[in-house]
Amino acid sequence: MNYTGLDNYKDPISRSDRELNVLYEVICAMRATLELNHILYIILTGVTSHLGLGYNRGILFLVNNKTNSLECKMAISPESGEHANKIWTNIEKSHHDMDDLIQTETFNKEIDRSQLYKSLRELKLPLSDQRDTLLTYAFKKGLPLHLNPGDIIQYADDPLFNYFKTDELIVMPLRAKGTINGLIVADNIFTKKPISDADIKIFSMLADQAGLAIENSRLYEMVVHKSHTDSITNLWNHGFFQEKLTEEIKTAEKLHSPLSLAMLDIDDFKKLNDMYGHQHGDVILREVAQILRDSSRDADYVCRYGGEEFTLILKQTSKEQSIEIAERLRKKISSHPFPSTSEDHKLRVTVSIGLASYPDDAITKKELIANADRAMYIAKFSGKNKTCVADANT
Ligand code: GH3
Ligand code: MG
Ligand code: MG
Repeated sequence: MNYTGLDNYKDPISRSDRELNVLYEVICAMRATLELNHILYIILTGVTSHLGLGYNRGILFLVNNKTNSLECKMAISPESGEHANKIWTNIEKSHHDMDDLIQTETFNKEIDRSQLYKSLRELKLPLSDQRDTLLTYAFKKGLPLHLNPGDIIQYADDPLFNYFKTDELIVMPLRAKGTINGLIVADNIFTKKPISDADIKIFSMLADQAGLAIENSRLYEMVVHKSHTDSITNLWNHGFFQEKLTEEIKTAEKLHSPLSLAMLDIDDFKKLNDMYGHQHGDVILREVAQILRDSSRDADYVCRYGGEEFTLILKQTSKEQSIEIAERLRKKISSHPFPSTSEDHKLRVTVSIGLASYPDDAITKKELIANADRAMYIAKFSGKNKTCVADANT
């Protein structure tokens, strides 16, 4: 791809050529991936690199529909003009096609290094607040907002400016199918290049494509997530469990670290269904799932194996540690007042747990599952509401 270069920047024909190239490259790059972070990085690179729109800094906010707020998702901010030029020169040298960006993992490191992102990622701007901030106002208006030094003084107390000192900026809404799904804030703090109407026009065109790409990626991620989750409990489903266990055993092997698998089965669940009906049985399944989710570490995988059976993949967890975790869960469930069909009566639900650990009890996935399953049946046969460990010799 040949760019006309900055020397010809003031020539209106080469400038519009260059801008068309920017749009073309960004759109092609965004089409080649559905991964949200890649897309956001491509957008911000399109906004900030010399070969792109050439803004000095870019911050991307997305709407979180669950919390109804705007959240900062990414920022590109060279820490000084000198550093900025170095980064941009690198981008120009190594990425003649923006498409190349999606083949590199380096962007995560670049984003992590961004001091601006580090300070902004905590910023959450509620959209329901009566009093608008600069960004919630721009979001509600749905139009590009260009603030000159005089305008910025009026917003001196705005939360954005606690983290982002500037004298001129543009806030560009991102739109998909008539709805605003985010905003980009950009400025030229280092070069002090004024933002012209022509700059805003081409930025709007890029933003329209960006908004659509973000929406598609979010829809795709929702579908992928749905295909991995169980519809009753919202836990990971059997297929995802199998996939992750294969991956995690490989990781454990590579890191020479232990990994444990817990298999839980609700005791006498059939009786519970028979007595209170299957719909109420589903309520109990959901509540057990919630306890498992709430009581496990974020890094662990809590899955519904099938029926009234659950599995937990406990990463970097030895046999001894897994016994502690399993016992904590078992006690929590057995002491939890589960709802019955009448308000004043609570149900007691217990689980039997089988444990097996890599590499002590098994080194393959098949063996690990079989051993955890066997341990779970030992717990059943020795009276239920118990935790048993696999015995490598049985
Ligand atoms: P044990 O203590 O030996 O585990 O006895 P149990 O009754 O829990 O086990 P059993 O295998 O005899 O019965 C499991 C029951 O779980 C039978 C089945 O109807 C019920 N079940 C499986 N999946 C679901 C579900 O999605 N919803 C409901 N409500 N029940 C389910
Ligand atoms: Mg069962
Ligand atoms: Mg059971």
